[in-house]
Amino acid sequence: MRLLKWLFGTKDSAGTAEQASATSMTIEDISIQAELTPARCAAIAKQLTEYLINSGAQIPVEKIPALQQKIQDCTFAGFRSDRMSEMLQTDYGLGQGLAAALSAQSTSIVLSKYRELRFRDLGCTRYEWSTSHDQRVCARCQALNGKVFFWNNPPEGGHPGECECWRLICPDYAKVPAGRLDSRCPNCEVELAKRPRGKAKCKSCQKEIWVRRNSDGQQVLLSEGMLKNFDRQKYGPEICRCVARPILEY
Ligand SMILES: [Zn+2]
Ligand SMILES: [Zn+2]
Ligand SMILES: [Zn+2]
Repeated sequence: MRLLKWLFGTKDSAGTAEQASATSMTIEDISIQAELTPARCAAIAKQLTEYLINSGAQIPVEKIPALQQKIQDCTFAGFRSDRMSEMLQTDYGLGQGLAAALSAQSTSIVLSKYRELRFRDLGCTRYEWSTSHDQRVCARCQALNGKVFFWNNPPEGGHPGECECWRLICPDYAKVPAGRLDSRCPNCEVELAKRPRGKAKCKSCQKEIWVRRNSDGQQVLLSEGMLKNFDRQKYGPEICRCVARPILEY
C-alpha cells in the first residue's frame, strides 16, 4: 500500500482573520468559481446555515437563506471579511465585535468546506490535522495537531477551519473593551492630569498605560490586559487557521 500525502493546504500561517479571507485566495483558489457545482454549493449552504443558526447572533431564521448565499458569494469573490462585517452591522443590526467574529468565522467555514468537498470528490477519505503553529491556535486545535481523521467523522467541534477558536480563547470577544477614548487610567479609571501620548505610568495606581491607534484612527489608552483585546479589535478574532492535509491511499 502506498501512502501519498497531498500538501494542498496552504493557508497563510502568519495572517490575520482578515487576511485569511483575502490573501488566502491564492492561485489554488482562483479556479474555485469554475468548480462550484450545485452539489458543492448546497453542502456549503447547509454547513453555513447550521453555523448561523447556532451562532447566537439571533439573526431571524427567515433571513438566513439569503444571508448564507451572500456570504458564499462574497467569499468566493474574494471580498475582504471587513466588508461582510459592515454588511452584518448595517443590514442585520449586529454589533461591531460580533459582526467581525461572525464574518471571519463564516469565511473560514466556506473555504474549508469547499476544500473538504474537493478532496472528497478526489476520493480522499482521511486527513491529517495541522495547526498554524502560532499563538493564535486554541487549546482544542493544539491538541488535535498531527492526528488523523476521516472526513465523514469530524472530531467534536468540527474539521480544521470550522473550530470557533475565538470563543475558546476569548468567549466575550464581542464585548471586550478596546481601550479608553477618554483621559481616564485604563487600570484604575482615575482621571489623568494629562492624556499621555506615549507609554506612561499612572501616578495614582503606578501601573503602565499603553497608547495605540485603533482601526478608526483614534488614539486609545490601554492597560496591559487590554493589549490582546486591542489586537482582536484591530485584526479580528482568532479564527481557526488549521488545515487538513489530505491523505490519499492506493
Ligand atoms: Zn480552534
Ligand atoms: Zn491608574
Ligand atoms: Zn484551528
